[in-house]
Amino acid sequence: MSRTIGFVGLGNMGGPMAANLVKAGHRVTGYDLAPQARERAAAAGVAIAASAVAAVAGAEVVITMLPAGRHVLETYDVLTAAARGALFVDCSTIAVGDARIAADLARTAGHRAVDAPVSGGVAGAEAAGLTFMVGAADGDFAEVEPLLAAMGRRVVHCGGSGAGQAAKICNNMILGISMIAVSEAFVLGESLGLSNQALFDVAANASGQCWALTSNCPVPGPVPASPANHDYRAGFAAALMAKDLGLAADAATATAVPAELGRRAAELYAAFAAGEGAGLDFSAIINTLRKDQA
Ligand code: NAD
Repeated sequence: MSRTIGFVGLGNMGGPMAANLVKAGHRVTGYDLAPQARERAAAAGVAIAASAVAAVAGAEVVITMLPAGRHVLETYDVLTAAARGALFVDCSTIAVGDARIAADLARTAGHRAVDAPVSGGVAGAEAAGLTFMVGAADGDFAEVEPLLAAMGRRVVHCGGSGAGQAAKICNNMILGISMIAVSEAFVLGESLGLSNQALFDVAANASGQCWALTSNCPVPGPVPASPANHDYRAGFAAALMAKDLGLAADAATATAVPAELGRRAAELYAAFAAGEGAGLDFSAIINTLRKDQA
């Protein structure tokens, strides 16, 4: 069924996501503050409106893909102009608390709201291969699932409002900690005279196996497609990992969960992203850990 969709935030992720909705036959009207984002989306068949409010006027579904919680909350304040009963879908990665505030704003204005953050990065957004983690009431999930399926490969219903964001930050806390663990193991192996390939061949087939090792291996060689073989050009930028770990650490504080390794990973990635890691893939942290040891 073709839907009328307002899409706000046409950046690295939102641009290709909106383009995939157009390809699937939906009527998409979009808006972004950045002229180049608007131009790229227009070239992909997205109708461009003069403002966010104009983009969502009359929309049955409103999708946002914005940098952080404050952008989502600011935008939700004005988007209540959408047709009453519209389904608001925020795909940005934001704090669980902000997701619940955003949902309340939408509901107070007579709309429905779900959180649906993603993993899979820009490549996943372009190839309609994202994984969506959804916080929604059952009826809203049934309605949003086919739309998300046009932009992704997996759509997981995680629970009610905020549950999608909770799943996203918990998953990325595992990823941040495990990338540091894998990196520390390679650095220790090197100092013990073990070749990176030998450690990889053992750990990839033993209990040390994980995505950080076998898909995004932080040393060049064992996994030819990993960013380590391409000057650590960003696949998943260190800045985004730092952001997600910061959200996880804040959530741990808010709920009095110790999460000692998660908090330490947040500190290490915050320093790395603000310094040597700016503009690099998050796996490049191995080079900083190696230097810290020297
Ligand atoms: P981006 O910076 O490329 O895009 C965000 C866009 O929002 C920009 O084009 C910006 O101009 C626009 N924008 C900001 N405020 C606006 C406003 N008030 N009205 C209209 N447009 C506005 O960021 P991105 O990489 O597309 O990421 C978007 C979200 O997805 C973030 O929350 C990020 O954490 C999450 N995410 C990103 C990736 C990734 O690999 N890039 C992966 C998973 C999740």
